[in-house]
Amino acid sequence: MKIFDTHAHYDDDRYKDDLDFVIKDNKNNGVEKIVNASYSLESSIKSKLLADRYENIYFAIGIHPEEVNNNIDRDILELENILKENINNQKLVAVGEIGLDYYYTKDTKELQKEYFVRQLNLAIKYNLPVIIHSRDASSDMYDILKDEKYKSINIVFHCFQPTDDITKLVLDRNYMVGLGGNITYKRSEHSLKLIQKIPIEKIIAETDAPYMSPIPVRGSRNESKNIKYIIEKIAEIKNIEINVVEQTLYNNSLRFFKINNK
Ligand SMILES: [Zn+2]
Repeated sequence: MKIFDTHAHYDDDRYKDDLDFVIKDNKNNGVEKIVNASYSLESSIKSKLLADRYENIYFAIGIHPEEVNNNIDRDILELENILKENINNQKLVAVGEIGLDYYYTKDTKELQKEYFVRQLNLAIKYNLPVIIHSRDASSDMYDILKDEKYKSINIVFHCFQPTDDITKLVLDRNYMVGLGGNITYKRSEHSLKLIQKIPIEKIIAETDAPYMSPIPVRGSRNESKNIKYIIEKIAEIKNIEINVVEQTLYNNSLRFFKINNK
């Protein structure tokens, strides 16, 4: 068994007492590789340190839409400094998670868009894939990404919430979707149909640990080893054998993050 968890947050406080055990336990359950996604400057630095400490952890750096503030120039400059310092670090594999989130507030819409676009441009400048977080914002997300200049970036929509416009972008371009614990929750017929439309080559699996625990462990602290429930669900939705799904998603993840499989 070979599993790639493409999105987790092991810098979260909930792991501070037993992280060594959790990472080892994941490994014993087939989790070969993990990408630690960041949500702030502080988290970006912590993610880098996790990648230094654990052989199978890679990292992404970025500022999440809920972390935007009026110091945008300073923040983007600081993020670019971290990028430059790590540009030859093989473990830096993406910019993320970045994007738009209007779930809690719409007051910061314009600022969120500016943070998002400036980080997308950093990804282009340094030739890195992008992990996108998009919640209740799909029409603004579509309006930004439809620009031809974003056509060639490797993008994954993390915690993919299917909408018609974003699904169209994924199918038309070289974009991918990250499927997580929420696919094991009750879904509408329409969203199930949209997920079924995405070819298996465009899918990667993720936990978003410590959040988003899949059924049957919903409500507990999530860990990468729980990704098996997500893989089972993808196999069921796509009607493909579990071991084929597992291998395909693993290969998709290596390809997406441009990691050589040694
Ligand atoms: Zn996340």
